[in-house]
Amino acid sequence: MDSRTVALIRTTFKAVAAEEGGPARLASSFYAILFTDYPQARDFFPAAMDAQRDRLVKAISYALDRLEEPNKLLPFLAQLGRDHRKYGVQPEHYVAVATSLKTAMRIFAGSEMWTDEVERAWSEGLTIIGEAMIGAAEKEVTPATWTGTVVERRDLLRNLTVVRLQLDQPMQFAAGQYISVQIPSRPRMWRYLSPAVPANTNGEIEFHIRSVLGGWVSPAMVGQTIVGDQWLLGSPLGGLGIPRNTKRKMLMVGCGTGNAPLRAQLMAMAQRRVNPRVHLFVGGHHPCDLYDLETLSALAVANKWLTVTPVTESDENPWWYLESGETERNWDGLEARVTGQIGKVVASYGSWTDRDVQIVGSPSMVQTTKFRLMAAGTQAKNIRHDPLF
Ligand SMILES: Cc1cc2nc3c(=O)[nH]c(=O)nc-3n(C[C@H](O)[C@H](O)[C@H](O)COP(=O)(O)OP(=O)(O)OC[C@H]3O[C@@H](n4cnc5c(N)ncnc54)[C@H](O)[C@@H]3O)c2cc1C
Repeated sequence: MDSRTVALIRTTFKAVAAEEGGPARLASSFYAILFTDYPQARDFFPAAMDAQRDRLVKAISYALDRLEEPNKLLPFLAQLGRDHRKYGVQPEHYVAVATSLKTAMRIFAGSEMWTDEVERAWSEGLTIIGEAMIGAAEKEVTPATWTGTVVERRDLLRNLTVVRLQLDQPMQFAAGQYISVQIPSRPRMWRYLSPAVPANTNGEIEFHIRSVLGGWVSPAMVGQTIVGDQWLLGSPLGGLGIPRNTKRKMLMVGCGTGNAPLRAQLMAMAQRRVNPRVHLFVGGHHPCDLYDLETLSALAVANKWLTVTPVTESDENPWWYLESGETERNWDGLEARVTGQIGKVVASYGSWTDRDVQIVGSPSMVQTTKFRLMAAGTQAKNIRHDPLF
């Protein structure tokens, strides 16, 4: 795609997105057009559409920001196409989405901005995106979905649960990737979860799940999951992971359940003979939020290339944890816990210019930590994180 085409697409999207309430109104309008013109498409979406609307606009922005970087965009679209097989989407559905999105954009942009050239640019952009997704889906030989039977659930905190599943067949994913998951009580409300263990031939998988206050799905995952439940899983997504034979040292920063994809990578690395040095900062609000120190301690004791620094914003635990009678323990092999905001703490250690950096956590934690590191001298090109939606 030439730079003028990219510029036309970006300018029109940014103009719409910059309006007061623009992204939400664009998403509402797009879905209204899609469901009116192609009623069969409604079946792919949940009854409650609010979270879905937000994700659509974020996903479009993410793709548009990378239009000039095909080496990043195409693998992302290929993964998305493989994952979309879980909905049963067919090539004609991509056409329906592209047509509805263009109609919604045309209405919002107005006839002055929506020229024939802009229309052609959007058609070209959406065709490239659709073809990349359809092509990858058609070539894929792995199943569209895996069924995972819950074999264990373990509550670690009142809002955090470990769920272990037995897949109907092994899934090949790179440690650090994430997977789209649907639970029986929340049909069509797929949510991303990151496996906390590397892929294995037994098809065993583990997720660490935090219940988000007011969320549609995570409270049900944490509060209602029982052994024997059957979850549906889509194809693996994401570009985190440590390349084999890399000599570059790593910096990992994870908060809350963001620890899961990082410890999965550390476990995978522990099976290799040679590894670069890794410094992991694992964060939480309260000391009790550092729910996985036992595993991290075992990894650090057994692997000299690994340094683990626990970080919390507060030194105190919440009342409900204090009532449980648990106290903070000192784990072998770990650095002393540091108190402070995790981004600030990590940046206070230096500029980390010799490291490849991975940041995992809530969108605000990822953005703040990235900002702090870049202010300290870390180059943006060395920082990786998952899309923030
Ligand atoms: C790449 C990726 C990997 C993920 N891996 C995991 C994982 O391993 N374990 C895990 O527990 N979760 C993980 N998540 C988050 C998870 O996918 C859901 O977004 C989260 O569980 C909330 O879903 P929900 O349906 O309960 O909330 P929703 O109904 O989707 O949202 C309800 C409200 O909560 C807000 N919200 C959503 N997520 C958060 C959050 N984390 N913190 C604060 N507010 C939030 C929303 O903006 C919305 O206002 C991951 C997300 C991504 C993008």
